[in-house]
Amino acid sequence: MNEIIEIGAVKLNERLEIVDTFKQLILPKITKKLSGRCKSLTNITNEELKTNGIPFADAIKDFSRWSRGENNVFMSWSNSDLYVLTNNYQTFLGNVNIDFITRYCDAQKYCMSFMERENNNQISLADCGNAFGIEIDVKKLHRALTDCYLTAECFKKVFDKEKLKNFVHDCDSSFFERLIYKPYLITNPVSDIFNVYEQDIICPACKGSMVRVKDFECVNKSFRCPTKCKKCGKTYWTTIRAKKTYDKVEVNQRSIEMNRKKAKKIKKD
Ligand SMILES: [Zn+2]
Repeated sequence: MNEIIEIGAVKLNERLEIVDTFKQLILPKITKKLSGRCKSLTNITNEELKTNGIPFADAIKDFSRWSRGENNVFMSWSNSDLYVLTNNYQTFLGNVNIDFITRYCDAQKYCMSFMERENNNQISLADCGNAFGIEIDVKKLHRALTDCYLTAECFKKVFDKEKLKNFVHDCDSSFFERLIYKPYLITNPVSDIFNVYEQDIICPACKGSMVRVKDFECVNKSFRCPTKCKKCGKTYWTTIRAKKTYDKVEVNQRSIEMNRKKAKKIKKD
């Protein structure tokens, strides 16, 4: 788990002027010592956290008070910080009711939409700053507040009120639940959400329904069984894979024709 150790934010008014800033170190609960990579990336020391860090819950209380306001839009550079925030909420506060964030925009996605690039890979904040011709103090990069200033600078360069509307999401609690939901492959053949025996098994050749020759077995988190098409007379290995996502179950099936020897043996059994 990624524990938040610093929150930084800048508040912009309608004319995109910085009207307020927020900065708070957080005393980690689980992480006992910062990793070398984290220390060199952020220049934050264990001593600094011990001296100036406060518990996550307290920091959030202050931050939510600071950020409340009519029609605010929250932004962050890629939604990974939002993901980490939601995860920390879940872990330390036991819920994902981040009620002070009612609208959200991924600043990275927004800025990238103004760039002509060969691939769709995510661009770092520093690279975006460079591309937009912004001067960057590399030494101070990756401290929460410095990154915010730079994000704001990038955003200002390409601000377009109409276009921005397409990038702003309304955030109810399902927005955050969805953000941290981890999809998984279903291995239980029969449950409230999925029943492998109710799946129509389709012949790849004639698209007709096939029958099961034997029961399903669970192989590599998929359900597999020999099947037969009565119309074509062919025998197949059918594999059904069911993936549970936040609001649905995605089912895939694949049938591969069995070699004759194996098909004969199945028949005998
Ligand atoms: Zn068939």
